[in-house]
Amino acid sequence: MKACVLHAPKDLRFEEIPDEVLGPGQVRIDVAAGGICGSDMHYYFHGGFGTVRVKQPMILGHEVSGTIAALGSGVSGIEVGQLVAIEPGIACGTCRYCAEGLQNQCLDMRFFGSAMRFPHVQGAFRQSITVDASQAHKVAPTVSAARAAFAEPLAVALHGMTRAGALLGKKVLVTGAGPIGALTVAAARMCGAAEIVAVDVAKAPLAAAAKMGADHAIDASADPDWASRYEASKGTFDVAFEASGNERALRSAIAAVRARGTIVVLGMGGDMTLPMGMVVPKEIELRGSFRFFEEFAWAVDCISSGRIDVLPILTDSIAANDADRAFALASDRSKAMKVHLTF
Ligand SMILES: [Zn+2]
Ligand SMILES: [Zn+2]
Repeated sequence: MKACVLHAPKDLRFEEIPDEVLGPGQVRIDVAAGGICGSDMHYYFHGGFGTVRVKQPMILGHEVSGTIAALGSGVSGIEVGQLVAIEPGIACGTCRYCAEGLQNQCLDMRFFGSAMRFPHVQGAFRQSITVDASQAHKVAPTVSAARAAFAEPLAVALHGMTRAGALLGKKVLVTGAGPIGALTVAAARMCGAAEIVAVDVAKAPLAAAAKMGADHAIDASADPDWASRYEASKGTFDVAFEASGNERALRSAIAAVRARGTIVVLGMGGDMTLPMGMVVPKEIELRGSFRFFEEFAWAVDCISSGRIDVLPILTDSIAANDADRAFALASDRSKAMKVHLTF
């Protein structure tokens, strides 16, 4: 079996790795499609982010779908040949946060293709992967492998909805319209937002945001003072989702949300300086949003039922033995949204 193994920045090899043992309660899956995520790109181009560094060869990838190839003993309710979306995280189930139902905050989370712990948890950009049966989520027969591979990023967007609370009738701002931002637009639409404004600095994300349901898509590179139009009466938006990780975008969101508004931050930026002189008197609630838990099954349902069409976000599907080209394309925000590897 071959896998996309990162040995050093920009040294990604599609190489042979040993087959895994299929244990009781597990399923073996022939991986079909895998989406390149921002974290994969940080590992590929920079060897990590912040203090998280790749210290040993690591298989990248956590946004994958595939077909069931074999069932371990004791597995029922799923058949060989079934297309599934693979849940990439396994929470420990016993820590204080797991006990509280906050599995995304698990103290001992094992998440595919993550260098957060050592030895690293190997990822899912590989021809075959063996996982717990509970990680394999069946999709409807009408769903393609490409659509199914969007379950993970859509779950991230849906967790943002959970963090935001009710959106029915609300005015919503989304800053950063890359894959997560664009899926956030679609999720907010589904959750009943009355008006959605998306902001980005690149053409491809703005076009995608419009397709995913944004009422207005603003190009901040051509219109840098856009937020000033939303500042009257202490601000316009009830809820903002910050999906760029960019300090200027978060500052604009702070200016453009109304008093007592909520800002859900999905984008992973570094340290930032924020106008607390606005956050405090406007009583803005700044909420982080990290990964997901029960939203994965919700995402699979949204894709299976067709309630959210994720395909407008897919730019290209490229064979895994040409992964360098796929990563180069994925990093070009003027052209690309989500790029898939195929196995
Ligand atoms: Zn991802
Ligand atoms: Zn736990």
